[in-house]
Amino acid sequence: MKDVFDATIIGAGPAGSTTAALLRQNGWSVRVLERTRFPRFVIGESLLPRCMDTLEAAGTLAAVERKGYIVKRGATFLQDGERCTYDFSEQFTRGWSWTWQVPRASFDDVLASEARRVGADLQFEAEVTAVDVGDEPVVVWRDANGREQRTRTSFVVDASGYGRVLPRLLALDAPSRLQERAAVFTHVDGDRRPAGDEAGRIWVVIHEDAAWIWVIPFHDGRTSIGVVATPDFLARYPSDGEQCLRAVIDGAPGVRERLADMQVVMPPKRIQGYSCRVTQMHGPGYCMVGNATEFLDPVFSSGVTLALESARLAAGCVDAELRGDRPDWARDFEAPMKLGTDVFRTFVEAWYRGDLPRIFFNAEKAPNIKRMICSVLAGYVWDEENPFVAQHDRKIRQLIRLLDSGASLPESR
Ligand code: FAD
Repeated sequence: MKDVFDATIIGAGPAGSTTAALLRQNGWSVRVLERTRFPRFVIGESLLPRCMDTLEAAGTLAAVERKGYIVKRGATFLQDGERCTYDFSEQFTRGWSWTWQVPRASFDDVLASEARRVGADLQFEAEVTAVDVGDEPVVVWRDANGREQRTRTSFVVDASGYGRVLPRLLALDAPSRLQERAAVFTHVDGDRRPAGDEAGRIWVVIHEDAAWIWVIPFHDGRTSIGVVATPDFLARYPSDGEQCLRAVIDGAPGVRERLADMQVVMPPKRIQGYSCRVTQMHGPGYCMVGNATEFLDPVFSSGVTLALESARLAAGCVDAELRGDRPDWARDFEAPMKLGTDVFRTFVEAWYRGDLPRIFFNAEKAPNIKRMICSVLAGYVWDEENPFVAQHDRKIRQLIRLLDSGASLPESR
């Protein structure tokens, strides 16, 4: 087996396969080492319109489109019987007005197959166990027969997601700044879907101000549901996943009726403490993309969008490295990733403080503000013309002060 490659990528999730597809566009030899065999389940099923730009740039959009996934045109938030909808066609930033809800086993399989189709050497059941970075990197991995293999490479891209291969091996893990939360989730049949465009929207249901529930419909009639809360909150519910989900949903009007006939079709899973970050995102001979760098929180479905964007930016820098140039990683990779992640972090923090739900439900009569917020919810977090990007924290706090003073949100800017 050939064992020398220009780039070696750890993990074939959206970040890894997209980096591979982009590097192949410039003719580099690319090996992708994936621990599991696809298709495999992973959580993270609601895309944002910004993803479409990156899928298009990577040449994978058409293959995804052929899968016929349900179209997602926005997000509906529900609280105490009230609801508000953000429609991606009503945005401040010019961009895609729709995307898809994707069962990840299928979506990730399409992206990995596309990477292979354009010439990446993709090995399944190939678990990376050690990496030597530096001038002549070597990736050590165990193949499907348990044999140790070594791949020599010019550059290592860690896209191992929750596997966090390089953060662990190089001691680059840093504690998340977000409070620890847990999620319990599954797939169900029997979802009484609303009609029309609403059928494809994600529902985000606020429950007792302390938890929220997601409802993500799929094209095959199945629906993903999950609840996110602090571990303390979840400890009040049964430890059995299905009973926990049923008990939380029972107490949540609006979604309770929608899911009254639900039948669980996948053993529920629980994960806790998923927020993570790193002390540095690149170094000599290596970089990290996707969740291997930082993951915030599921609430605004930002994970795959940030994973794809980091893949696109990293591929540009890796390409320059392989050409023997000196890419400016700080300017062209770290700074834009920090901007996008910071905007989402502000939104996540404001969500859990209760500020964003307040703004969301009050913005119904403030269309300009709603359009700017909608662009962030669509993943356009690099458009610094948008005040909710350029001054994210300040803008939210300003609106909250206004609401605290008893005023309404301004109807125009
Ligand atoms: P992954 O998709 O995790 O892929 C990493 C791959 O690396 C895996 O296939 C793994 O098998 C492989 N790997 C790991 N270790 C090794 C190793 N040692 N050797 C070889 N291969 C290895 N995001 C959204 O956009 N929308 C959502 O609705 C959403 N909901 C979420 C809900 C929850 C509860 C959580 C926790 C996250 C959610 N996310 C969501 C985030 C989403 O899951 C991730 O951001 C996304 O999967 C990141 O993609 P990735 O390619 O970086 O990593």
